[in-house]
Amino acid sequence: MIQTKGYAAQSPEVDLAPWSFERREVGAHDVQIEIKFCGVCHSDLHQIKNDWFPGIFPMVPGHEIVGRIVKVGDHVKNFKEGELAGVGCMVDSCQVCENCQDDLEQYCLEGNTQTYNNKDRQGVPTYGGYSNTIVVREEFVLHVSEKLDLAATAPLLCAGITTYSPLRHWKVGKGHKLAVVGLGGLGHMAVKFGVAFGAEVTVLSTSASKEQAAKELGAHHFVVTKDEAQVNSVKGTFDFILDTVSADHDFNMYMSLLKTDGTLIGVGVPNQYAVHPFALIGGRKTMAGSSIGGIKETQEMLDFCAEHNIVSDIELIDIKDITTAYDRMQKGDVRYRFVIDIATL
Ligand code: NAP
Ligand code: ZN
Repeated sequence: MIQTKGYAAQSPEVDLAPWSFERREVGAHDVQIEIKFCGVCHSDLHQIKNDWFPGIFPMVPGHEIVGRIVKVGDHVKNFKEGELAGVGCMVDSCQVCENCQDDLEQYCLEGNTQTYNNKDRQGVPTYGGYSNTIVVREEFVLHVSEKLDLAATAPLLCAGITTYSPLRHWKVGKGHKLAVVGLGGLGHMAVKFGVAFGAEVTVLSTSASKEQAAKELGAHHFVVTKDEAQVNSVKGTFDFILDTVSADHDFNMYMSLLKTDGTLIGVGVPNQYAVHPFALIGGRKTMAGSSIGGIKETQEMLDFCAEHNIVSDIELIDIKDITTAYDRMQKGDVRYRFVIDIATL
């Protein structure tokens, strides 16, 4: 077994603290990565706090992982020791169902194996990237470019793919008015991709203080959703809304900002997606959802980012400051992704 150092929550009630555990030896089809950086996703906080379901504790969060390969199994074809690599939200899936065959492992009909807070196909708990090393089967490892800043690349593995995938699926681009709700980790990546795909991008934010930064990210317009006059000025104007909000909010209000036939795509995970029937039928509107992206598409996204020089805007933190980072993320005070420097572990 591989002795691993990490940071874990022992229960939802206590702060994360150092914890040592074991990972499996590198199997014939496995890649071992020495982790350099790991992004802090709001999903980490949701899961530590049991917001979604009772979690598996101790929990080592983290699914925005980048580092360098230190060992590969005998049958690994696509990776070599010394290369940069990344791991996102999934580390396995059945590989044979209709969805896996269609490169949609995130919708594996048997359920994908999540990078942490899950059990692998042998029933062993999975532990995430707030740790110094990880062993993953090669099908779930991504190639990472040497051209981009490595720490700022980490958030692409979740925040990046979660926003890239729906924008590609709904073919959002030139001629479309796209609104992004919530300028956090996911939201700021959605702005960058929306702009790169040629859409006219508006940020709908509760934080007036983020206007300048939103414009610097490339957003064309900024609307403070606490200001009724500003909200009224964009009623019925958007083709698409990408909603990244982590807390409960009024979906009916956001649906009213769509044009006829417009689509709101939810990627955030509040307690509920609640919408009044009139918000949909008055205007033939669609409310949809989307979960991360498949492995092939994640690689495509990483390659697109390397080609177009797109990375996340980050605040690099010492792992000892993780609780402060969570507190700030909870308040919407992050510009725009915390990334843990794993050397501080
Ligand atoms: P984040 O960095 O905390 O950003 C969320 C943003 O939502 C905040 O910065 C804030 O932006 C806005 N917000 C917060 N509370 C709000 C409220 N009550 N009303 C309106 N807006 C509010 O979080 P994240 O890491 O981007 O994650 C966002 C959500 O996506 C989480 O629920 C996470 O679990 C989920 N997620 C889903 C997937 C998927 O596959 N679908 C993948 C990753 C994450 P403003 O200050 O601009 O208002
Ligand atoms: Zn995430």
